[in-house]
Amino acid sequence: MVGHAERKILVFDNLIATNELVDLTGRRVLLTGAASGIGEAMAFRFADAGAECVLLDLNEPLLNKVAHKLMAAGASVSAHKVDLSDRQQIVDLWTGLEHRLPDILINNAGIYMLKDYLEMDKDFFDLTMAVNLESVLWMCQEFIKRRLEAGGTIVNISTIEAILPFKKDLVAYGTSKAAVIGLTRALARDYGPHDFRVNAILPGAIKTPGTREIMKTAIRKMQLDLIKTGYDFQSRLALGRWGNPDEIARVALFLSTEMASYVQGAVIPVDGGFLSS
Ligand code: NAD
Repeated sequence: MVGHAERKILVFDNLIATNELVDLTGRRVLLTGAASGIGEAMAFRFADAGAECVLLDLNEPLLNKVAHKLMAAGASVSAHKVDLSDRQQIVDLWTGLEHRLPDILINNAGIYMLKDYLEMDKDFFDLTMAVNLESVLWMCQEFIKRRLEAGGTIVNISTIEAILPFKKDLVAYGTSKAAVIGLTRALARDYGPHDFRVNAILPGAIKTPGTREIMKTAIRKMQLDLIKTGYDFQSRLALGRWGNPDEIARVALFLSTEMASYVQGAVIPVDGGFLSS
């Protein structure tokens, strides 16, 4: 067996070394929803790969906490409080970024609100669509129009619920996230020729503050249908466990680097085998 210390890095003619393929030194990534859960894990993963991180969230105290932790570890970070449901705030953000545009855009921020379809009103639907879909649409537009000559990489975060609705009361969420898949594929088609790679990830059940809160509430309020859905969900997981935020972050990193140079318009489940069980 070859020990770690003895391992040789083999670099063949015309082959980029593996560690160089995932190295993002000198690259700038803009990450939304970076204060918590999957977005926070992505911030750490991308910073570790050498990227300069532009972090964005509505929750300023939590966002600053993440930014300070990264800076203390030597990463190059800036943090911006932005409400993504407000298009003007998105436009202002990009105006402020014009001096140094990101090379990579990760649209991760999202809200997961439950409501019986028959009780849903326009405000509820509009907020879900504004955060989960429209912000992605406008963020991509600002990114692409400013980098039309340079190209770039976009990763959008959808969900397995968009293609296999498993839980009740997620009509608005599922609709918004299914549209994110449509948007991703349309942009991949239209802007591939301009050197943009655009892909989507469909996370399965990932342990984050958001999902923990839903489970805690279900148990506290004895919401038996929710508890049963959780049990049914768990029993479909081929890997038998929920995922960790970093397991989504690693796939986002893969899609954002030259490792994925020929991946375009892909919709990738990262779900412990849920969709295939
Ligand atoms: P989370 O709730 O832990 O984090 C989401 C972040 O988005 C929060 O920091 C929140 O402040 C931010 N945010 C919400 N509304 C915002 C707004 N208007 N403007 C700016 N920021 C805003 O969520 P998470 O579980 O880490 O999920 C991240 C993404 O992954 C979401 O898009 C979610 O739909 C998707 N997803 C998560 C799971 C899961 O199991 N956790 C599964 C499938 C898909």
